[in-house]
Amino acid sequence: MAPTASNRPIVISGPSGAGKSTILKRLFEEYPDRFGFSVSHTTRGPRGEEKDGVEYHFVTREQFDDLIAKKGFVEHATFGSNSYGTSIAAIEDIEKKGRTCILDIEMEGVKQVANHPTFPRPRFLFLSPPSMDILEQRLRGRATDKEADILKRLNQAKVEMEFAKSPEAPHDKIVVNDDLEKAYQEAKAFIVGEDA
Ligand code: ADP
Ligand code: 5GP
Repeated sequence: MAPTASNRPIVISGPSGAGKSTILKRLFEEYPDRFGFSVSHTTRGPRGEEKDGVEYHFVTREQFDDLIAKKGFVEHATFGSNSYGTSIAAIEDIEKKGRTCILDIEMEGVKQVANHPTFPRPRFLFLSPPSMDILEQRLRGRATDKEADILKRLNQAKVEMEFAKSPEAPHDKIVVNDDLEKAYQEAKAFIVGEDA
């Protein structure tokens, strides 16, 4: 894992429903060969059209714990009732292709990556919703999660927002996703390096 200075991994984080997947999908369409999405492992089940090996590697709790025991993760964390983690293999797959890795991970993973002894320090982008009310509308509008999961995600969103304001937060850039076009352009400028 030795990216060059111009090829540092990029971490996008922010509350569930902030719009991370929407912005990344568009970025990958605009730059099909430049970036690689770090496909995480998760114990949650597929949502909507999600496919194994594309959005996530969907695994059992046993498979996830086995990978922890084998020290196969760069970072891993619990979110809601599920575990999520970035495997070393996921990162290496992208770097082999000479692409810049993009990780979409939650707060505990952000902290682990920022303090990792060997993983090169990424560039950190935080995507914020314009308000908690709008975040709730978007999570409900997405219509992919059960009520109990939506409530867990909203509670966790408050924690993510507080963390982003704290001195401990490693974020290099905060983008507020109000108007999607504007937010995409701002996120893109940071990610492609014009605003590094
Ligand atoms: P995340 O990946 O951060 O959990 P998503 O990309 O799934 O969030 O976005 C959550 C929902 O909000 C989706 O239904 C998406 O279409 C919608 N959305 C994202 N950005 C905007 C925006 N700027 N205005 C209105 N709706 C948005
Ligand atoms: P979702 O279930 O909405 O896809 O993801 C829930 C949360 O888990 C999001 O905040 C997302 O960024 C985060 N997440 C996804 N993959 C990983 C991962 O590999 N590690 C960590 N720490 N968080 C992840």
